[in-house]
Amino acid sequence: MAIRRISTLASSKQAVEKASRVIRPVTSSSTNISSVDYAGKQEPNTKVLVPSSTVVENGKGLFSSMSSGKLLRSFLTLEMAASEPVVDVGTWIYSSRLMKSAMFRQMVFGATKVTFFDHFVAGRNQEEAGETVKRLWNEGIKGMLDYGLEHAHDNVSCDKNLEAFIQTIESTKSLPPSSVSSVVAKITAICPVDLLRRMSDLLRWEYKERSNNLPWKMNTLPLFSESSPLYHTLQKPVPLTPQEEQDLELAYNRLQKIVQKAHEANVPLVIDAEETWIQPAIDYFTYSASISHTTADSPLIYGTIQAYLKDAKERLVLAKQAANKMGLPMGVKLVRGAYMSAESQIAASLGYDSPIHNSIRHTHYCYNDCACFMLHELSKGPGSLVLATHNSESGKLVASKACDLGIGKDGEKLQFAQLYGMSEALSYELKNEGFQVSKYLPFGPVEQIMPYLVRRAEENKGVLSTSSLDRQLMKLELQRRLKAAFLKG
Ligand SMILES: Cc1cc2nc3c(=O)[nH]c(=O)nc-3n(C[C@H](O)[C@H](O)[C@H](O)COP(=O)(O)OP(=O)(O)OC[C@H]3O[C@@H](n4cnc5c(N)ncnc54)[C@H](O)[C@@H]3O)c2cc1C
Repeated sequence: MAIRRISTLASSKQAVEKASRVIRPVTSSSTNISSVDYAGKQEPNTKVLVPSSTVVENGKGLFSSMSSGKLLRSFLTLEMAASEPVVDVGTWIYSSRLMKSAMFRQMVFGATKVTFFDHFVAGRNQEEAGETVKRLWNEGIKGMLDYGLEHAHDNVSCDKNLEAFIQTIESTKSLPPSSVSSVVAKITAICPVDLLRRMSDLLRWEYKERSNNLPWKMNTLPLFSESSPLYHTLQKPVPLTPQEEQDLELAYNRLQKIVQKAHEANVPLVIDAEETWIQPAIDYFTYSASISHTTADSPLIYGTIQAYLKDAKERLVLAKQAANKMGLPMGVKLVRGAYMSAESQIAASLGYDSPIHNSIRHTHYCYNDCACFMLHELSKGPGSLVLATHNSESGKLVASKACDLGIGKDGEKLQFAQLYGMSEALSYELKNEGFQVSKYLPFGPVEQIMPYLVRRAEENKGVLSTSSLDRQLMKLELQRRLKAAFLKG
């Protein structure tokens, strides 16, 4: 991996301001932004994938390192996850009052450990996660190490989480070089969530009023577009109190420490995206840290764009154009988005339209559109894209587009990523085609990882779920092994 050279951009604030002035207002014709109206677009293929003969053939090798017992457990776990009633009951139990009983909790965690946890989680600690990284690396796949932390509410927890991130970065030094493509960080784990909400309100209000009155605000890239929903902030928020400003400084210093450590370990940092009520503050942290650690070649920090949001493409274009003006190689992880029901519920409770595309067809279109925009940008200049998806249509589209545009398969400009335990077929097919492929590897104690597992269970439920192809291939492999054992016997 190339060594990243960091320089502080002294005039970056002026550059961003200039870029923002030039970019606003946005019209779809001037910037080729097409996120607003996807209604007439053709639907990409979303039917259940039938494994092609090559995938079936390759499938033979996919699970060869798994014992039959583990393979059967993984298969049953994915089957359970695909059953809506099972997932609904499971998520109800997890959020029910029954979990207040220590004995009941232990039972739930025990059952989760041998099913969902073992399938979707890389280990209970750094050592176990490290073993998973080595095993994947032997098969030509990299790891995105994610110490599973959820929201923090005070400075003490944030400091504790900071230590966990620093140790995760440190741990990459003892793993094979290049086996870890990035370390994942969550801003919600190093900045109290109430403060992120307050900052997001103030940033939204500043954008709405076209004012410039946030004394704490540093250089950043554009955070909103003309179509960004502003309903989370209906009244003028009061300025940050001195205490809040102090907490903000502490949070920013935590991020700076993580970034500095990542730079020293020469491992990029990927910042996850979360819910829209706090995402402006998360983007603000991500972009301002990227600006203060500008690298000469490939990005040190990657932000995340959620293509299920109606304003995703506009915001991506605005941020990339501003980054270009500043000479900042922008790192983007592109996802569809994982908080669909929460987003729709909040919007409905406030009497507003959901910020999420009206149909999955529009989300697919927006995702592919954002990916193609980034690929065109990367073919002309610096930056990097992590195509984080299990959708094989998007995977194939981007793979072929990257080849058409002459974007090298083995460089740092384009990587593909899937969650651990999901879309094995797609990961290995892309890897076999010569692309850089990573698995997103959450790790940590069972209790701590539960919210992540609930999101995965939600995502895998239903007939058209992401795991359909993996389940078919696992079933074929189990049948093959059973037949072989039967013939032997
Ligand atoms: C490496 C990696 C990192 C990730 N990081 C993040 C992150 O930081 N933040 C985050 O939010 N998510 C993250 N995710 C999860 C991601 O957002 C998706 O939830 C998940 O990957 C499924 O999308 P897919 O691209 O794999 O597409 P598919 O397999 O095609 O799944 C599409 C899913 O999109 C949903 N959907 C989206 N829009 C609509 C709509 N309008 N109507 C109906 N359904 C819709 C459905 O639930 C459907 O199951 C990450 C995923 C990966 C692989």
